[in-house]
Amino acid sequence: MPERIETESRKLLGRLREALAADNEGQARLDEVVELIATSMMTEVCSIYLFRDPETLELCATKGLQAEAVHQTRMRLGEGLVGRTAKSRTVINTADAPAEKGFRYMPETGEERYSSFCGVPIQRLGDSLGVLVVQSKAAREFTADEVYALEIVAMVLAEMTELGAFVGEGAALSARHQQHVLLRGSVAQEGTSEGKVYLHEPRVVVTNPISDDPDIELARLRDGVNELRSTVDSMLLGAHSTDSDQTEILEAYRMFANSGSWMRRMEADVISGLSAEAAVEKEQSLARSRLSKAGDSYMRERLHDLDDLSNRLLRILTGQGADARNDMPENAILVARNIGPGELLEYGKTLKGIVLEEGSVGSHATVIARAWAIPLVINAKGVTREALNGDTILVDGDQGIAHLRPDETVHTAFRDKLAMQTRAQERYASIRDLPATTKCGTTISLQMNAGLIADLPSLEGSGAEGVGLFRTELQFLVRNKMPRRAELSALYSRVVSSAKGKRVAFRTLDIGSDKVLPYMKPNDEPNPAMGWRAIRVGLDKPGVLRMQLQALLRAADGGPLAVMFPFITQLEEFRAAKAEMDKAIEREKILGHNLPSTLEVGAMLETPSLGFAPDVFFDEVDFISIGGNDLKQFFFAADRENERVRKRYDTLNVSFLSFISQVIERCNKSNTALSFCGEDAGRPVEALCLAALGMRTLSMRPASVGPVKHLLRRVDLNEVKQVMDDAIARGDQSVRRAVADWLVYQV
Ligand code: PEP
Ligand code: MG
Repeated sequence: MPERIETESRKLLGRLREALAADNEGQARLDEVVELIATSMMTEVCSIYLFRDPETLELCATKGLQAEAVHQTRMRLGEGLVGRTAKSRTVINTADAPAEKGFRYMPETGEERYSSFCGVPIQRLGDSLGVLVVQSKAAREFTADEVYALEIVAMVLAEMTELGAFVGEGAALSARHQQHVLLRGSVAQEGTSEGKVYLHEPRVVVTNPISDDPDIELARLRDGVNELRSTVDSMLLGAHSTDSDQTEILEAYRMFANSGSWMRRMEADVISGLSAEAAVEKEQSLARSRLSKAGDSYMRERLHDLDDLSNRLLRILTGQGADARNDMPENAILVARNIGPGELLEYGKTLKGIVLEEGSVGSHATVIARAWAIPLVINAKGVTREALNGDTILVDGDQGIAHLRPDETVHTAFRDKLAMQTRAQERYASIRDLPATTKCGTTISLQMNAGLIADLPSLEGSGAEGVGLFRTELQFLVRNKMPRRAELSALYSRVVSSAKGKRVAFRTLDIGSDKVLPYMKPNDEPNPAMGWRAIRVGLDKPGVLRMQLQALLRAADGGPLAVMFPFITQLEEFRAAKAEMDKAIEREKILGHNLPSTLEVGAMLETPSLGFAPDVFFDEVDFISIGGNDLKQFFFAADRENERVRKRYDTLNVSFLSFISQVIERCNKSNTALSFCGEDAGRPVEALCLAALGMRTLSMRPASVGPVKHLLRRVDLNEVKQVMDDAIARGDQSVRRAVADWLVYQV
């Protein structure tokens, strides 16, 4: 970093420290700060705008605009250049403000005289607090050095306790904090629980944002980072003996802890005048705002790892929060914006539930929560703003919702639901070892979907007969580098041995679409769900597919093996994929390895085209598994991730059912085993209708096996089929209504 920037920002920070050390408080202190910045930067105006509520910014201090405008001038988020800075959370730096898009003239501030504008967001750990603005008459863009200095100052401002008094939470918020709030998110791990909010990340207070001596601060920073690295190393040592999924995650995490660029950026901040902890926080804030906008899910996941590490480093540097876990209530439900894997491992299995503002189904923390079967709701917007430590919270992981501070009615209803669920669980447990045989004597094979070794214990508990779909990509997604064949085969043999002789249908890598491997070159496609994904990638770049097939053959170790290829759209793709399997077998033979005792090679039917494939496809394939999630999106041309369109089309729509019937018929004719493994297989009414159409194998989430079996055992499929046929003959769009009405009198 050039010497000049160091001295510029250091000088400014030095003055700021003096100002903060003075006796001034509240408004007077803010006034002094803006005065000081304007003088130091030689601008006519310096102003601080702070949020009154999430949508409104208020001018809270100014040097240069009219004093009467303070606490009077307000603007909405996104409005004017100030609002735009806050909304975009990025610096806006312009020499000709009035010509900028969105410029709003505010007569009360007399602003039209200022040509240059530089707005820097004031944020603390991803929370937007306001905007720091400098303006000058001369038409000039502020230099990169000046902007950097302003960013450093904004960081210090964010730490000032004064801001708390002005940022408009106060009374309105405390009134709101008494009320019941329903938080809607999405399901990451099923299960229900009741407990008390325990806020993750108790705020680490940085009391000394500005350093006296950069050399001392640099030494503190380096010592802190060394301590952090050795903590991560010992976590890794601890995990080695237990779970390989956790080891994977921590390896990725360690790489981040050793990142040279992270360290260099923090060192540069310290050289510019920040204290070690302020430097950590500055980088954390900037990374949060940059990466939270990143479309790339891998980058977002890395952000959470970085966040987790930064929090840990802050605790090391400040010595705060070390005993934070001591005050954790017994029935703690963890509430957080997001949580990193290391932190979750530290909380341990004692948590009753987790509600996250962000999060994702494939995140490292989700993997762990699932392994521990802790109910987890993700994407619960607003939860960190609404929840206070100790609040009662009800987590409904089955529906992806949480009730915060429930009133009596909600609480009673939830407890009734819990009691009903407990009774239902008892019923399901009592039929766990019985077959799913209907009243008409048809037995349906119920299997479970899995993706991690941690899922396999559910095989026994749920009563599933086998794993109808093992999604192999999850193992690839939680790593930071391509796994080696030996690792993969060790992993698959653990899956096989955990299944204790039950059949596991391994699906080869289904990447692309929303599943992007960190170590794969990103493929910028306009429509990834219909792009270069799954078997298309496998056939075009067969290295990974070959390695996977070989690993699977070795893992079978002379036992049976079932493998299926995802997203097969036409016969030739299946043949090409099968040829890879044949080649892999040949290689294994030459190497003298054990070959599987039986080998089934199947295809996933996820696009309508495969249903119309020539007869020979149905003859050649050993089994077909319908991937209903993808099939539905392509059948109805409705994105499965887009709630708005996804819900418009019912699985029990007669056109869709007619297509499924044709596939069943063709499989029956060619004697090809058929199963259905999309989410719908686990919904009792859908499962019932699929069975009535002739589907004999259904693969679903483990928790769905009990409810589906319970319903199937109580009905006669011929009667269900009759009800469906009548509805179709009547011209109903969906058979759901007719079946649901009929069910009322049956069960
Ligand atoms: C499906 O598409 O239904 C399926 C089971 O695969 P995934 O959900 O993994 O795409
Ligand atoms: Mg699919």
